[in-house]
Parts: sequence; structure tokens; C-alpha cells
Amino acid sequence: MKIIGVAGTKNTGKTTLVTLIVSELVRRGYRVGTVKHTHHDLDLEGKDTWKHREAGSELVVGSGETTFFLIKDELKLDKILKIINSMKELDYLIIEGFKFANYPKISTDDVKDEFTITNINVFQIHEEDIPPLVDLLEERTYGIIPYGNCGECGFDNCLDMARAIIRGETSEKECKMKKIMEVELYIGDEPIHLNPFVQDFIKKSVLGMINSLKTHGKEPIQENVELIIRNGEN
Ligand code: SF4
Repeated sequence: MKIIGVAGTKNTGKTTLVTLIVSELVRRGYRVGTVKHTHHDLDLEGKDTWKHREAGSELVVGSGETTFFLIKDELKLDKILKIINSMKELDYLIIEGFKFANYPKISTDDVKDEFTITNINVFQIHEEDIPPLVDLLEERTYGIIPYGNCGECGFDNCLDMARAIIRGETSEKECKMKKIMEVELYIGDEPIHLNPFVQDFIKKSVLGMINSLKTHGKEPIQENVELIIRNGEN
């Protein structure tokens, strides 16, 4: 799941740009998700879910033809990315309004930092400008930063590598850890770096145990496996 940021000051066309990029990515056959940073309350006053929340519920889920979750706290972007990554297989996730995130972004105003791929005046953009913009995004974006900081890509740490991808000097394919990120370990919300040997060891041990369970069918498991160890009061 590659991440694309769209950031800029108020009323500079961020949402318009997000919808244009989503449409083009979907046209190219990608599965796309979006996240919007907002200072407004998303739940409508008077609705049943709003009443649940007003009564003190910390997590409200609306379930029907669509499903939505309302959590009372503001979650950090890293946590949101982790939840989305485990919930849905996406090719691209567009994050609107997270201007300080360490992910590649398009700026809809004049502000530029080391994670800015390009600045765009949305009010002067034309339909024919979108495909080349999305070509650029395909080339210069990357997924969740592994923070392995192993240096095997030739950069001192993952953020230096990320900045180089944004400048067009390398690509995510050069991240040795990403290629073999078959096992991810989190302790609480903290990602733990696992070298290839440890990943392979955990993967083979866990799959071996699951495949030998009587509750499991005869065919070896092909799907992704998620294992959560509850080790505290929660
Ligand atoms: S190879 Fe990957 S995990 Fe290691 S420093 Fe480079 S970007 Fe980070």
C-alpha cells in the first residue's frame, strides 16, 4: 500500500485534487483508499450513532451496507495506517491534510518541504495534467516506512531513503527489508524490526503449528495470518 499525501492551506482545492487522483488511479485498475484529517466532528448531531457517543460510548460502529467506526480519541497517523493495512488490501492510500507526515505529498499551496513531490495550483489544473501527475506519483511514492534502519539500501536510515525516493534518486524496490516483510511484529503500537532470518523462523514456526491443527483443513494455509498475543490486562 503506497501512500500519497495532499496537503495545503484551507480552500486551496485539496479535496478536488484527491478526487481527481483517486479517479485516475481507479481507472488504472488500482484499489484506492483515502483518509482525511479534519478538525470537525464527523458524526451528525441527532443521529443514532451520535446519541451512542453522547451517552459515553468510546467506540461506535455503524454497520449496514457500509461500515464505519467512530473512535473518541484522535489516533496518530501511524496507527491509522497500521489499522487500514490490516483491514483492507489497497494499492494506494491518499491522506488529505496531514502536512507534517513523513510521506510523499503534493502541496496545494506554495509550501515545500523535503517530502513534497510537487506544488500544484488546483484552480489552474486541466484534465490532461492528471495522468502525468499520477505517473509521477507511481514513481515517487512508497508504503509504510519500515523504520528498520538497517542501511542495506545504501542510506543511513529509512527516512533518508524515503527522501531519496521523493527526489527520484531511488525506488522502494531497493529496500531489502520491504522485499522480505513477510512478518510484522508490533509490541503495543511500536513496530519491532525483524531481520530476514527471524522473519523466516517465525513464519515457518507459526504456519507449521497452524497447519497441524485439527481444526484446520488439509490444504496448507495460503491466506495472510494475524496472531495477537494478549499479554496484559487488556
Ligand atoms: S533497506 Fe529498508 S529498512 Fe533498511 S534502511 Fe533502507 S529503507 Fe530502511
